Amino acid sequence: MRIANVAGRLNLLGPEGRATDVEAASEGLFGHDPQAVFGHWDQFRTWAATAKLDGGSVVDPAQLQPVVPRPPQVLAGGLNYRDHALESGMDLPAEPMVFTKFVSSLTGPAGEITLSPGNVDWEVELVAVIGTGGRHIAENDGWDHIAGLTVGQDISDRTAQFVSSPPQFSMGKSFEGFAPIGPQLVTPDELPDRDDLEIGCRINGETMQKTRTSDMIFAIPTLVARLSAIVELLPGDIIFTGTPSGVGVGQKPPRFLQPGDELTTWCTGIGEMRHTFVPA
Ligand code: ZN
Repeated sequence: MRIANVAGRLNLLGPEGRATDVEAASEGLFGHDPQAVFGHWDQFRTWAATAKLDGGSVVDPAQLQPVVPRPPQVLAGGLNYRDHALESGMDLPAEPMVFTKFVSSLTGPAGEITLSPGNVDWEVELVAVIGTGGRHIAENDGWDHIAGLTVGQDISDRTAQFVSSPPQFSMGKSFEGFAPIGPQLVTPDELPDRDDLEIGCRINGETMQKTRTSDMIFAIPTLVARLSAIVELLPGDIIFTGTPSGVGVGQKPPRFLQPGDELTTWCTGIGEMRHTFVPA
């Protein structure tokens, strides 16, 4: 199953990206709010399995909003790929290194993002969305708690990220528009291998990051187990799962996003996001 947030309304996506409005197709059984659906995810999946798609119009990317618009919590793991930890000059973590991107930084999969005052960097990441929440979830049950996957950018102002000592990551990663996600949420059964997807990003057509998610240090079920050992995971929470190597701060010399740069972010089986950076 694939869903999208089309102009604030929950839509099921059929073949070729044709969208069906869920509230209309379910005759009001499910509302229009893309966030509310995670509160009754199993019921929704059951309905969607036999729902009649109306073969509606192909979605205009400019109408897409964050597929999870108001997650109760945004959890993010740092240094979750070996090569990225090395390029950052940091030790491999023994436990997930966790921070938040504040919810107000979320934005959709297309459009303009305003550059913050510091050095602004890119970080392609697979994003996991919680369906059924819980505490103390066993690693073996981790995937059962995932509603679906989408792709995201953990846009980071490196200046703000490292301004204090010790550094505190959350603020430098939470400027307006610094958490784009989308273009759609895909349930894991739709993917050829939910544990091994190719993700990457390009700037003005030049590939900057490209890796397979099977290279994560802490895979998604492990993250679910370790996070839920401390934090109760709630329906509709999102987890940024860390970025591979190829970020700007790791380039020699370092490179950061400039006004006019176009950042294209993709994951096989999920789709592509496209953002242009503009000056403040
Ligand atoms: Zn990140």
